[in-house]
Amino acid sequence: MAEITSIDQLDAAGKRVLVRVDFNVPLADGVVTDNTRIRAALPTITKLVGQGARVILMSHLGRPKGEGFEEAYSLRPAAEHLATLVDAPVLFATDTVGPDAQAKAAALENGQILVLENLRFDKREKKNDPAFCAELASLADSYVNDAFGTAHRAHASTAGVAALLPAYAGYLMQDEVGTLTGMLEQPQRPFVAILGGSKISDKIKVIDALLDKADTLIIGGGMCFTFLMAQGKNVGTSLKEEDWVERAAAMLQKAQDKGVSLLLPTDVVVADAFANDANTQIVSAGAMPDDMMGLDIGPKTAQAYAQAIAGAKTVFWNGPMGVFEMPSFEAGTKAVALAVAQNQQANTVIGGGDSVAAVNKFDLAQHMTFISTGGGASMELVQGEALPGVEALRA
Ligand code: AMP
Repeated sequence: MAEITSIDQLDAAGKRVLVRVDFNVPLADGVVTDNTRIRAALPTITKLVGQGARVILMSHLGRPKGEGFEEAYSLRPAAEHLATLVDAPVLFATDTVGPDAQAKAAALENGQILVLENLRFDKREKKNDPAFCAELASLADSYVNDAFGTAHRAHASTAGVAALLPAYAGYLMQDEVGTLTGMLEQPQRPFVAILGGSKISDKIKVIDALLDKADTLIIGGGMCFTFLMAQGKNVGTSLKEEDWVERAAAMLQKAQDKGVSLLLPTDVVVADAFANDANTQIVSAGAMPDDMMGLDIGPKTAQAYAQAIAGAKTVFWNGPMGVFEMPSFEAGTKAVALAVAQNQQANTVIGGGDSVAAVNKFDLAQHMTFISTGGGASMELVQGEALPGVEALRA
């Protein structure tokens, strides 16, 4: 497969470079409350500014209707925040491909940055509409995609426009694709994958793919109960997907056939309600009361999982072990997060979404080798699916 074309191959001096970034940041009262995604794009932005490029940034934010401007989804706060992080003038266009964007893009000077208004104010963005792609392309001479988080979407700004301009992968995109692909193709062994989260139906393809790659697969979260049912256990009122029991059983069989050690909880924290102040008990996974639900892995399980993680040379983690948002059910996720953080001999990759929130909650992010910025995109990549936003950057 052709390599993706690196931004290092772009001589950006004096050029107008259209950069797809992921500035889909949380806002409160018009202020950015978590700037992780903006900071993640800085290596690409500062490289282009440093080369004297005219940098035009585009992104989506949230889920506007696609019928024009909506204040709550304006990228202006993200642009203002960016201005505090870079040593370059940051301008803002009040439209995406309209007169203001065209005029400001044309007047942009070397080393200046222009942020366009939210791509999704125009419904043609998600439709990958050819005319919208052409209007975006007309703003610039070259295109860089640094938005790994939306690389699994074939939208105008992630796929269509790449065919109309010389296209390059930004540093974040390269890092994400390189780390995840390297982990899957040449993992140091043992390779321990940890999967949690709510539903097995959402993760079945990832489970299937990881059974082909990993030495140990650790299962926690709501999805473990469908596996326990496949083993004939009673799971009380826990989250369960009865239609998926057969698939879970097939995965258990596949693990056995492949010699993958698939770990399931041996004890569980059960509760009489989905609430932090519910009555709780620790029970064996084979003795869950009919009227209680499992909301976390138990302490013995957490210890066994931590031990497996301690021996790993590669760790991939996606999905919490329990309802970690509630302090009463955070212990399992915390124990796993700590074990991953403490394993400094391993390449530890956190695969986006709620596991990133968990790692941040327990203040362990700095101990991980790599934290993916793209939940959905990293899952699709691990599943072995081609990402349109990445494919568009292959030479
Ligand atoms: P996901 O988006 O699939 O990664 O799932 C994350 C969500 O799963 C989190 O909000 C957790 O609270 C939830 N979760 C984890 N364990 C359980 C459980 N045992 N029962 C219900 N929800 C759970």
